[in-house]
Amino acid sequence: MRHNRIDPYTPDGGYYECLSCAYRESSEDRLTTCPACGADVRNLAVARE
Ligand SMILES: [Zn+2]
Repeated sequence: MRHNRIDPYTPDGGYYECLSCAYRESSEDRLTTCPACGADVRNLAVARE
């Protein structure tokens, strides 16, 4: 039996989620606005203190 594997994506760049339309994209570049709707995105890969 296997547990679900954690997504192998490594947060070297960034993983972003749009605050408006929930569009998600991983990008090596810093993303500040959603490419789909232009709203603000947040970086999901940033570790929280
Ligand atoms: Zn969006």
